[in-house]
Order: sequence, then structure tokens, then C-alpha cells
Amino acid sequence: MSPTPSSPSTSSTVTKIARRGLMLVLSSPSGAGKSTIAASLLRDDHSLGISVSVTTRAKRPSEIDGTHYHFKTIPQFERMRESGELLEWAEVHGNFYGTPREPVESAMADGRDMLFDIDWQGAQQLQEKMKADIVSIFVLPPTMTELQSRLHRRAEDSEEVIATRLANSRAEIGHWREYDYVIVNDDLGNAFEAVQSIVRAERLRRDRRFGMFDFVTKLIEETPVL
Ligand code: ADP
Ligand code: 5GP
Repeated sequence: MSPTPSSPSTSSTVTKIARRGLMLVLSSPSGAGKSTIAASLLRDDHSLGISVSVTTRAKRPSEIDGTHYHFKTIPQFERMRESGELLEWAEVHGNFYGTPREPVESAMADGRDMLFDIDWQGAQQLQEKMKADIVSIFVLPPTMTELQSRLHRRAEDSEEVIATRLANSRAEIGHWREYDYVIVNDDLGNAFEAVQSIVRAERLRRDRRFGMFDFVTKLIEETPVL
């Protein structure tokens, strides 16, 4: 994509500046609403892709294999991990989760943006490997009572699974300072707008827009036509 300066008086073409893709990482304790926010973002913004993780957890009734996760057995997961197919991986709430490497590398090579719904351990690993491309957001629930009722309202996990997730939530929340942005998902519309604003601003960052150099070079060489 080459930068194309356009004159406001002669053209309605939108000036496009080439930029690196960004890796948008969303984390939260289970039930705070990150998957709901992620789904709204994907519906709203077709230029955003999602990284579909592999997991050894059992499929929830509403989930589709290949869309929400690639569901794997433990030996299958271990083979992927040992052969370097995972960009990061972690054990979360007693199951394994990991990010397939290839789709991320090809999205980044093409300058496409990608969304990651991963926990703090995965966020730390990506931060170490791809710091310049990461924008990380931690989603908090407004109260622990509301977190508990959201886990129940989702009605996709057993009481035992909900209890494990609630028990782990305080330790997960303890990682909030490791993120670039922290939002409280009280009203869903407000939380979604906050995430949208973050994405819009991050896409405009100078250090991400490598095409700006050529754009400005051409701009200052241009002789205005009256
Ligand atoms: P997570 O992905 O963080 O585990 P989910 O996105 O699955 O959480 O949300 C858990 C439940 O809470 C879902 O039933 C979802 O519809 C609901 N939920 C999400 N955000 C809100 C909100 N702001 N207010 C009320 N309910 C919400
Ligand atoms: P769930 O079972 O509710 O879908 O996810 C449980 C937790 O695992 C969530 O915190 C979610 O963000 C995290 N998770 C999902 N996929 C991955 C992944 O590929 N890597 C890591 N590290 N965490 C993941």
C-alpha cells in the first residue's frame, strides 16, 4: 500500500498511510465480558481478525469448533506445543490454551490487525516477543457480585467450573497493572465504546504508520497547483 497524498479541493479519495498491524490483547477474569466485547468489535470492524486459540477444555454448548476454539485432546495440544506451532500457551483453570503461530505471523506480515482473547500469562509471553505490536486491555467487572452473577447468567459452565473460575479471579485481577489500558465493564455500550476509541487511537500512532515517512516526503516536495 503506497501513501497517496490527496488534495481536499480536487479529490474525495481518503488518504491511506501504510502501517503495521496491531495485536489487540483482551484479558479479564472469567465472566467480566471480554468475549462479549470481542464479538461486538468483530461485528463492527471487518478489518479486525481474531486469533482462534487451541484448547483442551470441553466445548460449551454454544461453541463451534474452529470458530470459538480449535478443540484438541491433551496429546494433540502437546504435539503442537513441542513442534513450535504455538506462539504462546498457558494452563488456565486446569485446561491448556494456546495461540497458533501461523495465522498471527501471516496477519502481521500483511499489516492486518488481530484480536487475542487470552489470559495474563499469554499476554506476558506476547509482550516479550512482539512488544511493539501489542496493545493490551484488561477488562474488570464492576463488582465481584456482578462477576459471579454473570458467570451464572452465561449458563454454560457447571457449578464446579464456576467456583474454580471465581476462586481464580482475584489472582487474575492482580495482573491489571501489566496492561496498557484498564476498563470497567459496567455498561456494555460504554465499555465497547472505550475499546473502540483505544483501537482508533492506536491505529493512528506515528510509530505504527511507517508510510508516513514517504507521505511527508512527498508532501513537502509538492508544488501547490492553483
Ligand atoms: P468472558 O469472556 O470475560 O469470560 P463473557 O463475555 O462470556 O465473559 O460474559 C459473561 C456473561 O456476562 C455473558 O452472559 C455476557 O452476556 C454477560 N455480560 C457481558 N458484559 C456485560 C455487561 N456489561 N452487563 C451485563 N452482562 C454482561
Ligand atoms: P474460556 O475457557 O472461558 O474460554 O477461557 C478461559 C481463559 O483462557 C480466559 O482467560 C481466556 O482469555 C484464556 N485463553 C483463551 N485462549 C487462550 C490462549 O490461546 N492462550 C492463553 N494464554 N489464554 C487463553
